[in-house]
Amino acid sequence: MVSRVIPVDPFDLVIFGGTGDLARRKILPGLFRRFVAGQMPATARIIGAARTKLDSAGYRKMAAEAIEEFGGIGSASADTLKAFLDQVEYVAIDAKGKAGWADLQKLMQGTGKVEAYYFSVAPSLFGDLAERLQQWGMADKDARIVVEKPFGRDLVTAQALNATLATYFDEKQIYRIDHYLGKETVQNLMAVRFGNMLFEPLWNAQYVDHIQITVAETVGVGGRGEYYDRSGAMRDMVQNHLMQLLCLIAMEPPARFDPDAVRDEKLKVIRALDPVLPHHINRGQYDAEPGNEESHPNYRVAVGDPRSKTESFIALKTQISNWRWSGTPFYLRTGKRMSARSSEITVVFKETPHSIFAEDAGRHRNVLSIRLQPNEGITLGVTIKEPGPGGMRLIDVPLDMTFAEALGEDAEQVDAYERLIMDVIRGNQTLFMRGDEVEAAWAWTDPIIQGWETRGEVPKFYDSGTDGTTDSHELMRRDGREWRKVSP
Ligand code: NAP
Repeated sequence: MVSRVIPVDPFDLVIFGGTGDLARRKILPGLFRRFVAGQMPATARIIGAARTKLDSAGYRKMAAEAIEEFGGIGSASADTLKAFLDQVEYVAIDAKGKAGWADLQKLMQGTGKVEAYYFSVAPSLFGDLAERLQQWGMADKDARIVVEKPFGRDLVTAQALNATLATYFDEKQIYRIDHYLGKETVQNLMAVRFGNMLFEPLWNAQYVDHIQITVAETVGVGGRGEYYDRSGAMRDMVQNHLMQLLCLIAMEPPARFDPDAVRDEKLKVIRALDPVLPHHINRGQYDAEPGNEESHPNYRVAVGDPRSKTESFIALKTQISNWRWSGTPFYLRTGKRMSARSSEITVVFKETPHSIFAEDAGRHRNVLSIRLQPNEGITLGVTIKEPGPGGMRLIDVPLDMTFAEALGEDAEQVDAYERLIMDVIRGNQTLFMRGDEVEAAWAWTDPIIQGWETRGEVPKFYDSGTDGTTDSHELMRRDGREWRKVSP
């Protein structure tokens, strides 16, 4: 099945931080794929902007290398790449100074196109960029800004950042990116929930035993050790990605699929989250990989702090205090150097209230698993009779909808970033976090972090290549449950 490409209006996208890692790995290759797909109008321009002294030709060379290295090129011809690069320009600019702003202003003046500014720079520069865009007359009411994570490191800093951006831009112009929301399956989660009659009547505490959300990575902190150690799994992953997934799985049906209706419902979920009890949280740091201690050292060696108390793994249990979910626990878990790279939401339904079959037929639960990566797709485990003679024995079989198989290879090719950038151009904020959502998420996260800091808790080590600390398994076992196996 071939994806339907809906063209967007002509636009100019300025990538502040255009020479950086994110621009090279995700933004430029993603835009190139949209170009190949025929979504980028011929008059659209992509303007890289950073301090590095380059001219447009030099930047195009850098962009071409990035596209080649990071997988955007596919089977596209050299001519196609050249045609894309013809729409790419560069301005050497300093977010903190005067250099380059007059050049950018000249490029952006009176174009009549959609104007978008992607802040792919350190968050400490967001305020400078916003202020300068206004000073140089580029913060007009139709301009859009895209801001990257992290959005603050606690409630106070997030509020301050929101206030700074609000000085120059209206909330309707601010696109806070959480690339998890751009994943195909995440949107499919809404389609499955709200486009089918089948699930919604069962989507509550009466029928759902519990919900698990796991985001497991096999990589360690790599070259980001210093940054990561100031953040940790709670700030880096739970406060944004996992909470966004939790919101989408738990929210009430919005009246319409429009940005504020969806985000209002997500916000209500965050505000209904219970505080997390100390014995419902488990934190860990990965140990060195046996035999590969040099290349895969333990967390503290990797971040260069032998006394670090920052977690590279966290598992926690929380509850949502509302009519729909009261009594259904939500278990969240994320970590580095785990056994496989896998992001999955698992909805475990309750057993049937009574079994009509013999004891040894077994009791089973329906499990709906929503895989975000790899192999995006949705699987529903249903119980059937084991085929063949020998009486009534029950087994679980998966009803599997792997998107790449069901919809053809094209379905896989839209990466989260390219989808989200196109949404910015279309002016659709549905898959972006609103300021009050981010603040509410920090308001829930802050006391958890303050709690372990006050108690002076130190994360426990877990073996690399495992699914986290033994205590995290105990957290489940105490409730008579178990984590779903992390599988690639
Ligand atoms: P990076 O590789 O360090 O790139 C930073 C960029 O900012 C460079 O292009 C740099 O170019 C530019 N820059 C620095 N100071 C500047 C200034 N005063 N004026 C203008 N440009 C300046 O960082 P990154 O990894 O791309 O990350 C960018 C943002 O995305 C950060 O907020 C990060 O947290 C977020 N993010 C990144 C990833 C990722 O996978 N990389 C994932 C999620 C979120 P010059 O040195 O040439 O000025």
